Amino acid sequence: MTRPMIALLLAAAFVAPGRAAAAGKLKIVTTIPDLADMTRQVGGDLVDVTSLATGVEDIHAVPMKPSFAVLLNGADAVVVMGLEAEHAFMPGLLDASRNPRIQRDQTGYIDTSVYVTPLDVPVRLDRSLGDQHPMGNPHINLDPVLAKDMVRAIADGLARLDPPHEATFKANLAAFTAKLDAAIARWEKEAAPLRGKKLVSYHPDLLYFADRFGMDAVGTIELRAGVDPTPGHIEQLEEQMRREKVDLVVRELNYPATLAETVARATGAKLVELPVMAGGLPDTKDYISFIDHNVRTMLEALKGG
Ligand SMILES: [Zn+2]
Repeated sequence: MTRPMIALLLAAAFVAPGRAAAAGKLKIVTTIPDLADMTRQVGGDLVDVTSLATGVEDIHAVPMKPSFAVLLNGADAVVVMGLEAEHAFMPGLLDASRNPRIQRDQTGYIDTSVYVTPLDVPVRLDRSLGDQHPMGNPHINLDPVLAKDMVRAIADGLARLDPPHEATFKANLAAFTAKLDAAIARWEKEAAPLRGKKLVSYHPDLLYFADRFGMDAVGTIELRAGVDPTPGHIEQLEEQMRREKVDLVVRELNYPATLAETVARATGAKLVELPVMAGGLPDTKDYISFIDHNVRTMLEALKGG
């Protein structure tokens, strides 16, 4: 081996641990497509983003694939929704990744919930009850105003990973926030007919959406987050729904259809089927079109017969 070659190899070894040496882009893995879109918006050309979930899964139980550990092994950072939304699969995957840079409390672990004050924080935590929301309700992606906080957490995380590009991330953050603000103003107008409407969903994932658009999420088909309904619970729920004149039953696409249909029929509420993350349907490819879809679908359900 000639001297210049050795020098080249040494130079390569020296820069190899730095992220820029490989492909020139930060390799980011997100748990759900919403976060992938947000990370692309903020990271622009500086990031190469992959989402583990495609958008049709249950965020509390994304099925494992061997490819996930490989992806995470080569990642510069992982972006999670946080509030333990991913607690059923992320801790195991992070172990399997054998990547010290993306473990919790490392620079490569970006939690998008850090600026959000969660609702429904349990006063007493008993995981033996099967509670899927130990830190409070984690479905913050359903509220486009909270999405602004999530995007801000992503911009902070990228700036910590790649300080020389902090100004670019900040500029991209400002641009996407302006886009979100415009969409929020439009949704608030369009969604005016949703104000005061009552809904029951299969799982308590519509809470932040309902809050944002002045709706009232009065109950769930599940007994509690992650706990299957009992006949007694359904009977009580239907009674409550008739008494309170509930307008909508929301069946999230990752939950079974039959029971939601039965409850809607028994109580005269309209049944509406909704995704709870981006990417699950052809017209919900990115975050803004996902919220668009949900607002529009609810409005149509209330209008129709
Ligand atoms: Zn949940």
